[in-house]
Amino acid sequence: MVKICCIGAGYVGGPTMAVIAVKCPAIEVVVVDISKPRIDAWNSDKLPIYEPGLDEVVKACRGKNLFFSTDVEKHVAEADIIFVSVNTPTKTRGLGAGKAADLTYWESAARMIADVSKSDKIVVEKSTVPVKTAEAIEKILTHNSKGINYQILSNPEFLAEGTAIEDLFKPDRVLIGGRETPEGRKAVQALKEVYAHWVPEENIITTNLWSAELSKLAANAFLAQRISSVNAMSALCEATGANVSEVSYAIGKDSRIGPKFLNASVGFGGSCFQKDILNLVYICECNGLPEVANYWKQVIKINDYQKSRFVNRVVSSMFNTVSGKKVAILGFAFKKDTGDTRETPAIDVCKGLLGDKAHVSIYDPEVTEDQIQRDLAMNKFDWDHPMHLQPASPSAIKQELDYQKIFDNMQKPAFIFDGRNVVDAEKLRGIGFIVYSIGKPLDA
Ligand code: NAD
Repeated sequence: MVKICCIGAGYVGGPTMAVIAVKCPAIEVVVVDISKPRIDAWNSDKLPIYEPGLDEVVKACRGKNLFFSTDVEKHVAEADIIFVSVNTPTKTRGLGAGKAADLTYWESAARMIADVSKSDKIVVEKSTVPVKTAEAIEKILTHNSKGINYQILSNPEFLAEGTAIEDLFKPDRVLIGGRETPEGRKAVQALKEVYAHWVPEENIITTNLWSAELSKLAANAFLAQRISSVNAMSALCEATGANVSEVSYAIGKDSRIGPKFLNASVGFGGSCFQKDILNLVYICECNGLPEVANYWKQVIKINDYQKSRFVNRVVSSMFNTVSGKKVAILGFAFKKDTGDTRETPAIDVCKGLLGDKAHVSIYDPEVTEDQIQRDLAMNKFDWDHPMHLQPASPSAIKQELDYQKIFDNMQKPAFIFDGRNVVDAEKLRGIGFIVYSIGKPLDA
């Protein structure tokens, strides 16, 4: 029986391993983490992350061929294939601070693998890492190898939070990069056989190590760039009377462009896009390519601009001040169907409004009060005004808001600022609201 161990039981490690376990009943999968509360949660009825369909998948195989444990060393020592899915945040200090990936967690996982291994291992990069990381990992492992053969593979994860299970069941592609040596090819084949249990062969792409590592950064940079491109257009639409939804539809009909990822919004968030673009920028700079670095930096600049443009629009519409005014924020996670608030644009919006002394209430059924407190404190927010936090209640997510009742209870004029272009603006204007939608004329 093949044994898989995954180091890191987070948003990636948990769901990816649960799907491997459910699709490959003959493979034993153990997910390990240094965080006891996280492992306890994976072993409980209240999983540590919210993801549609995840509960059912975990329940189907937990205790059979899927296990969660804090006994990291034991399970690493016993595994044939080790996935490393630890966090790789942006460095906050030292060389490359603010841009480079912090590989501290990766390095300590690699050193631990070298310390405890007694048999040959395939070590799989599941985390998003800078191109050439496999070379560094190889050095760490082979310097301490004790005759053990280590093969490093890059198998980046392309799932999107909110649709992780769907993405893992039906991936557009699985990418595996390995060394072009006989042992390297054998390792690639072994991993391919795991995915071949449910992914059609034509969707499993094999490349060299560096192409696989770079493809993940490139994919996130391209996705984020599309959002910044449409958001840049939304500003021009507002200035000219064009409607960004009409523009998106018109350009998306071009098969070379395609319709996906063309919705204007308050900006992208999440733990990956900004971090991975900064990582790419740093790699370009280190490789003497400042023009390429500047090109990608602009994607983040437009995203920052879009967030501040939104806050400014709220404040300027409400007669240039929100001081003492009650503002309700509906939704705090970085997108729908997730409770993840890492780098959510809502933090910048709240910060902007609180900075102008608004009285802010926040409601998100998937986000806890603690999380919001921590996110805003983490961003060094100065709490000098009351802030009302609604406790999470997942059942409320399905309820339709009674906008007539909301309107009746609001001070007039009553405003709605739609950061995702999701409300029915026409209907709400019929009730009497002043509605701002991103990239649209005020009466559209
Ligand atoms: P996460 O923070 O949710 O999970 C990482 C886990 O690793 C944590 O639980 C942490 O305790 C654990 N960990 C750290 N060091 C460890 C060690 N030495 N031993 C055991 N456990 C250790 O992060 P995530 O969102 O799952 O992301 C993981 C990686 O996957 C990152 O590189 C990220 O860029 C990448 N990625 C994330 C997504 C996403 O949507 N979140 C998608 C694709 C790729």
